Amino acid sequence: MADESDITGTTPRRRPKPDVLEIGGRRLKPSTLMMGHGFDPALSEGSLKPPIFLTSTFVFENAAAGKRHFEGVTGKRPGGAEGLIYSRFNGPDQEILEDRLSVWEDAEDALSFSSGMSAIATLLLAFVQPGDVVVHSGPLYAATETLIARILGRFGVSWLDFPAGATEAEIADTVERAKAMGRVPLIYLESPANPTNALVDVQAVARVRDAAFPADARPPIAIDNTFLGPLWHHPLRHGADLSVYSLTKYAGGHSDLVAGGITGSKELINQIRMLRNTIGTITDPNTAWMLLRSLETLELRMTRAGENADRICRFLKDHPKVESVGYLGFLEEEGGDPRQADIYRRHCTGAGSTFSLYLKGGEKEAFAFLDALKIAHLAVSLGGTETLASAPAAMTHLSVPDERKQALGITDNLVRVSIGVEDAEDLIADFDQALKAV
Ligand SMILES: *Cc1c(COP(=O)(O)O)cnc(C)c1O
Repeated sequence: MADESDITGTTPRRRPKPDVLEIGGRRLKPSTLMMGHGFDPALSEGSLKPPIFLTSTFVFENAAAGKRHFEGVTGKRPGGAEGLIYSRFNGPDQEILEDRLSVWEDAEDALSFSSGMSAIATLLLAFVQPGDVVVHSGPLYAATETLIARILGRFGVSWLDFPAGATEAEIADTVERAKAMGRVPLIYLESPANPTNALVDVQAVARVRDAAFPADARPPIAIDNTFLGPLWHHPLRHGADLSVYSLTKYAGGHSDLVAGGITGSKELINQIRMLRNTIGTITDPNTAWMLLRSLETLELRMTRAGENADRICRFLKDHPKVESVGYLGFLEEEGGDPRQADIYRRHCTGAGSTFSLYLKGGEKEAFAFLDALKIAHLAVSLGGTETLASAPAAMTHLSVPDERKQALGITDNLVRVSIGVEDAEDLIADFDQALKAV
């Protein structure tokens, strides 16, 4: 870890008037808090909405205040800084966003980043040292796998993984083997995994971690919660310490920005904040503001997209040109994998709106289907208001070796679909005509 004298360890904070967080003993829900939490209009000329603060630096009231702020952020004085200092560390829009991100996961604190990958990179760099062994579930988002295996590998960090659906015994075995290879700085999960939708048993991972390490040397468990969070999966409640997001997806939700986030305990978030302050992976004020707008409709959008996906998957499931549909909503039905169904029941409150569609045939059929779609757009990414479809084997996972593709079920006939908030019957009509064109 770098010398603390030249980096800032805790957030410089605005001090808005205390928020209303409950009424008559009733705790207000995130969907209510998204409209005002963390912002005091009186601090901005009465503006109902937060302005976008386009500034690189903040003026101190006097020299003593400047010194006090720096004492706070460098940890010389406990409690953090009372004011903003410089926009690589933070700004009002980012702080309001971070306060609101914490609300969704009932977390102590949160950080915003310039992309999902810069969040993941900052997280990893905050915890790993040469000789360490990162334990992770597999598969991970392709760029995360590259970052851990190839980039961190150049700095003497190795890794060991277990398959996403692994049993507690298999997870324990992987952790024991990793401990024999070196220090384990972090256990990194992704659930549901991209693109297989396989779920990780976070509760089992936490039990294994707690049994395998003494209380003062437990590696944090971080999880990429992009696919079902923050509405349908709350990993911090199931034993994870840090929940990581590509806010580009459902949180941003309109396919018009790139950003990332991490929520968790103050202690762990502060360690990551020190690194973010040093390297500047924070999001910019404009993107933070757009995310504030997006979070106001997060529950509406995700709920509608989830309902749409359920109807569309039920239509696709029995279609003669469809081989199968990999949709979490089918796990608890006949023929669902019992282990995955058990994890789903214990961890998830909804099936999301991103699923795998296996057509009968191969690449030719998948391409014909994609080219015939009229409403759904042919594009990678997910979680936006519009429905997107792509062919992972030929696109996002083109560079994955063939054997690994087979093992992960990334076959040529796979179409990955992210359902948006359009009219469900219109989407069914579009999928129906595209299947006829196959
Ligand atoms: C998109 C995505 C990322 C990377 O996020 P960016 O915002 O594109 O950097 C990481 N994990 C998952 C699961 C994703 O879908």
